[in-house]
Amino acid sequence: MLEKLKEEVWKVNIELPKNHLVVMTSGNASGRDFETGFVIIKPSGVKYEELSQLDLVVVDIDGNIIEGNLKPSVDTQAHLYIYKQLREIGGIVHTHSTYATAFAAMGRGIPLYLTELGDLFGGPIPISRYVPPGDEAIGREFAEKTRPGRFRGILMKNHGVFAAGKTPLDALKAAVTIEHSARISYLAEMDGNPEELSMEEAKRLNKKYTENYGQ
Ligand SMILES: [Zn+2]
Repeated sequence: MLEKLKEEVWKVNIELPKNHLVVMTSGNASGRDFETGFVIIKPSGVKYEELSQLDLVVVDIDGNIIEGNLKPSVDTQAHLYIYKQLREIGGIVHTHSTYATAFAAMGRGIPLYLTELGDLFGGPIPISRYVPPGDEAIGREFAEKTRPGRFRGILMKNHGVFAAGKTPLDALKAAVTIEHSARISYLAEMDGNPEELSMEEAKRLNKKYTENYGQ
């Protein structure tokens, strides 16, 4: 069932450790099939290097298992809430990537120091209030605080990153860019007082990127 989407969700999951965004079994990626409304998500506690496409779990929008022998990720309810609230989202990635999660631990979002945040997100990466992992509260913070667009992202206070996009690959790109920006911002702050771009410039970059980037 949904073989093409399953392959993409699997690929995005195994890209997480390759891009140094997760350790051990932390983190997860999912994708939504717009036709059936079903969501494909990583099973709970399975190592990425042992993950096969057959292990992925298909659930409906209420979390009932449609296909799969394993338990879905403990973050499934958070993913489903985001899909329910934001109809355009087709992929979600959750990580505890190092530098972004350092900002989350400090209770800070990622400032708008770099054009790459303007390009993809049209502004800085917001920080949520603290909510415990594992339920819909994360999805509520995400839906409330992220900016509409092809890419979305937030730092969950004291926890990690939720990134999303029109497809699972877009969500991966969002998660990689958030970590990349966090790392550079951390380094820049260590040695100086980096200046933020204006929101006006971020919006301009985002518009240009959305309209022109790619082949
Ligand atoms: Zn987590």
